[in-house]
Formats: sequence, C-alpha cells, structure tokens
Amino acid sequence: MAQYDVIVIGAGPGGYVAAIRCAQLGLKTACVEGRETLGGTCLNVGCIPSKALLHATHQLHEAEHNFATMGLKGKSPSVDWPTMQEYKQSVVDGNTKGIEFLFKKNKIDWLKGWGSIPEAGKVKVGDEVHEAKNIIVASGSVPSSLPGLTIDNEAGVIVDSTGALSLPKIPKKMIVVGAGVIGLEMGSVYARLGAEVTVVEFLDTITPGMDGEVQKNLQKMLKKQGMNFILGAAVQGAEATKTKAKLTYKLKKDDSEHTLDADVVLVATGRRAFTDGLGLKELGVEMTERGVVKTDAHWATSVKGVYAIGDAVAGPMLAHKAEDEGMAVAEVIAGKAGHVNYDVIPGVIYTHPEVASVGTTEEQLKEEGRAYKVGKFSFMGNARAKAVFSGDGFVKLIVDKETDRVLGAHIIGPAAGDLIHEVCVTMEYGGSAEDLALTCHAHPTFSEAVREAALACGDGPIHM
Ligand SMILES: Cc1cc2nc3c(=O)[nH]c(=O)nc-3n(C[C@H](O)[C@H](O)[C@H](O)COP(=O)(O)OP(=O)(O)OC[C@H]3O[C@@H](n4cnc5c(N)ncnc54)[C@H](O)[C@@H]3O)c2cc1C
Repeated sequence: MAQYDVIVIGAGPGGYVAAIRCAQLGLKTACVEGRETLGGTCLNVGCIPSKALLHATHQLHEAEHNFATMGLKGKSPSVDWPTMQEYKQSVVDGNTKGIEFLFKKNKIDWLKGWGSIPEAGKVKVGDEVHEAKNIIVASGSVPSSLPGLTIDNEAGVIVDSTGALSLPKIPKKMIVVGAGVIGLEMGSVYARLGAEVTVVEFLDTITPGMDGEVQKNLQKMLKKQGMNFILGAAVQGAEATKTKAKLTYKLKKDDSEHTLDADVVLVATGRRAFTDGLGLKELGVEMTERGVVKTDAHWATSVKGVYAIGDAVAGPMLAHKAEDEGMAVAEVIAGKAGHVNYDVIPGVIYTHPEVASVGTTEEQLKEEGRAYKVGKFSFMGNARAKAVFSGDGFVKLIVDKETDRVLGAHIIGPAAGDLIHEVCVTMEYGGSAEDLALTCHAHPTFSEAVREAALACGDGPIHM
C-alpha cells in the first residue's frame, strides 16, 4: 500500500494543476485518472479540441471572405473533414502528452483507473488501496441533457458536445439546443463549414448573464454569418431516425408548437458535476442543493482531509477557475495562504468576433442601485482592427462613478479573450480607468481600444 501526502482524483485542469503545485511544494503526490489520457474534459473533449476546430474553420472563413480583398486570389480551400479531425486530434495528443511529461518531471504518480474513497485517508483504485493524508476531489463534470432528448454520440444524430467534436461528417442542417458558450462555439464551427445552423434557446436572449449590449451585438453578428436563432422556445423533445432528427418546441409567447428537421441535434444545455462512483455519500460528504460538492472558503468538504475543486464544486464551470482552485488548495494543504478572487474570473466565447467579460454588468449595478460610469470605444476607431476586417464590436469599461475604480469590462471584437486580461490585472490591483488610460499602449494594437474605453471614462477618447 503506497502512502502519499496528497492524492488528487481527476486529472483535468483542476486536478492536474493541484497535483503539480502539491509536488512543487514538496508534498508526495499521486493523481488518479480513469480516462486513457490526462487533461480531463478540457484537453480531451472541451476547450482544446473545440478551439482547434474554431481555428481551422476561422481560417476557412478568412480564405472565403477576405483573401481576395487583400490580393490573395485563387481557388478557396476545400474542406477535408477527416484531415481536420486528425489535426484536432494531434492538438489534443500534444497537450495531453504534455501533462504526462509534467507529471514525470514533478515525480507525480499517475494511478490509472477509476478511484473511490472508501474512508477518509484512503483511495481505492482497482483492487489497490492507497493511503493519503489529504484527498482532493477534482472529478469534473459531464454534459447534461433535457427530458425528451436522448443523447447517442455513437449514432451521431442527437449528440452532446463530445459527439459534436467528432461527427462522422459535416451535417447539412444542424440544430443547437442552448445558446450558451459551447452551443455558440460549436454552432459557428459548423456554420463556417457550410451547415445551416439553427440555435433554439429557452430564454429570450443568447449567452444568459452576459452584458445585454454584448448579447444583442453577438447575436446580430452571428446572424450575419448565417446562424439562425429561435429564442423563447421550450424544447419538448426530439425523435431520431438513423440519419435525421425532428425536434419539437413550443414558443413561450403563445404556446404554439413547432417542429424542425435536421441531420444533427447538438444538445448544449449545460453540464452537471460528476461525482459518480466516488462513494462521497457513504463517506458523509455534504452536497449542495444544486448537486455539487459543498466546500468552505478553503475547498474543505464536510469530511476532514477531503477537499474538492473545479467543476465538481460551485462556481463557473471554467478551466481557469478550476486551475486557480487547484493551485490555491495545494497551497492551503501545504500550510500556505491559498486564495482565489472570484470577482475577477474572466469568461470568453471563442466565436468570431470573440467575446470576453469580467466583473459586473450594467444590469447588475442597476439592480444594486450603485452609481457607475461607462466608457465605450468601438473597434471601428482602432486602426489595427480595421486593417484585419475586425472593426465590428467594442470595448465597454464599467467604473465606479465616484472613485473611477474599474468594476468590470465587456469586450466584443478581435482578440477580446486576450485583451480582457489587462482589465483583470487592473481590477486585481484595485486600479482605476485613469490608471489604464495613463498606461502607454503600443500602436497599432487591438489593446489601444481598451485604453480608449478608459479615456472615455474621463475626458474622452481620441479616435472617436
Ligand atoms: C466543448 C467544451 C468546450 C469548453 N471550452 C472551454 C473554454 O474554452 N474555456 C474554459 O475555461 N472552459 C471550457 N470548457 C469547460 C472546461 O472544460 C471545464 O470547466 C474544465 O475541464 C473543468 O476542469 P475540472 O478539472 O474541474 O474537471 P474535468 O476537466 O472534467 O476533469 C475531471 C477528470 O476527472 C476524471 N474522473 C472523474 N471521476 C473520477 C474517478 N472517480 N476516478 C478517476 N478519475 C475520475 C475524469 O475522467 C476527468 O478526466 C469547455 C467544456 C466543453 C465541454
């Protein structure tokens, strides 16, 4: 029986980061993973493969729409779907092997198989029981569905995000149920590949919880790219044959029933924490009403020596939130002050244009009755964005009216997912719009739009 300071269960971005940090802090560490490869949902069937497909299809879009304008003439590339799938898999393999390398480098034992916790201080993998002073549950999440929608990724007609990443062929017609991040990203992949994509959403807006102006603009831009939206629609169910599906939905406004046909229905209605088989209930680990593991401010569960992080606990289901918790819980176990600032966790949608946000929205501040100022700058006034056909979109900075302290930012436009981080750093330091505005930004960069939005909170932007 091997003895460890820490055993982490799950090698997703929460678990593998926790394991690496534990090892770096001098703790003897093992990580249990049931999958064939390390990296969890994120590297295998989430962030990474979806971004590979978004990248490839964005290049196609550029070739079809913008190359000729730049004097790059000739036949547009044609799509070789099996090769695009191979490219996607090579990106996944490179990344998952990279984690294996990091495990070896940091002397972390990978315990291969599905783990359970028969009692505090013990982790069972297969027939072997290992001892650990501390156990970190980082078992992640799996796609959830709706009643009446039976997922069958093998058949490839009604699929979840995992099935949508590896469809046997490009569908002519696709229905996406759910206008959240995953639905919009995968929907835009297939729209760029020529599919007629219709997004059906229960709420009256896309991307629930985001800044209202960003929601409207993103929907308009995706519509321009050929995606259709049916909002305020309650999906009743879908019937599948071998090659087609018929989806039924009711419009909330008049209760009228409608049907839609498609070759593929992608169910992207969210994810649920995955804790099956761990034996948490028997161990006495408390869960919340929402079915995630309950933890205190230091990721400790109700059972001493058992911690939990990532998608398995409350909070946004994001890889970087899981990673932050992974680092922080390792520090707590090592006796240091692990901390995550949940007020500054950015969210990004990798459509084109990208969308990124952090902090509060105007809608939230209005509800709180807090006085605020908005500084907004359109990418139309940004020379670099115009040069690369990306003038659509804006940076919107929200600051406290009295103190000028940055409270949030909402960006729709080129490289939004990268630009958001200068706002994150400003917020971490409790900085103001003036701090951002006084910082020299290289020209010509997209980041000048962030500075201009900051200037718009004061005496006004220069290029608008
Ligand atoms: C299509 C898609 C795109 C996404 N894109 C993004 C994005 O762009 N950015 C972003 O931030 N997030 C994205 N996400 C979300 C992101 O993948 C998750 O938030 C993140 O992976 C959560 O990390 P985690 O470590 O908590 O869990 P996971 O990554 O789910 O990893 C948990 C691991 O634990 C293993 N496991 C579970 N139980 C056991 C057990 N009993 N024994 C052994 N092993 C076990 C599982 O096999 C799994 O490998 C995306 C998700 C999907 C599906």
